Amino acid sequence: MRLVILGRQGSGKGTQSARIVENFGLVHVSTGDMLRAAVSAGTALGTKAKVIMDAGDLVPDDLMNEIVAERLSQPDVVAHGVLLDGFPRTTTQAAELEAMLGDGGLDAAINLDVPVEAVTERMLARGRADDTAEAIARRLELYENQTSPLLEWFDERGVLHTVDGLGDEHEVFSRICAVLTSVDS
Ligand code: AMP
Repeated sequence: MRLVILGRQGSGKGTQSARIVENFGLVHVSTGDMLRAAVSAGTALGTKAKVIMDAGDLVPDDLMNEIVAERLSQPDVVAHGVLLDGFPRTTTQAAELEAMLGDGGLDAAINLDVPVEAVTERMLARGRADDTAEAIARRLELYENQTSPLLEWFDERGVLHTVDGLGDEHEVFSRICAVLTSVDS
């Protein structure tokens, strides 16, 4: 299976992604994790990305497309399938992903739906270093402007599945499983 998970920052995407890949034997490709690893390793990419990430802005599409194309071509992804988490975030990235995947395309895009007020509370509570009130507001604004148009994009392609992300994480996961089991059969 080749999947995308979408959701506002703080929607529980990371937690649910970990469970999905474990349960369905997929490779987890999180662009946020890849960028944070580059920042920790102090690579040229990391140095460039850190300033952008700290401000809550988006890393340029060209750079992201290159990183993801390279990752998707690796043998583990080809053999086991993938859950993309944090990509695509713009319609430019979505168009590029479509080209990268070629025949067969995407099996499902899961929209983990949690309202703005609830995610803001969760993000302030988790206290990550890049979670300042300004950066949170900026990321939520970018999500509405740049990423939420992707919901329509995936819906038009018949692959969008919206899952209620409120409630207990086990409950949310069983909702996701119900969707993926129907997609996979
Ligand atoms: P995340 O962990 O997915 O919330 O990503 C953390 C930060 O990394 C974001 O706020 C962006 O600055 C950057 N980032 C991650 N994925 C992307 C992407 N697909 N396009 C642009 N920027 C990204």
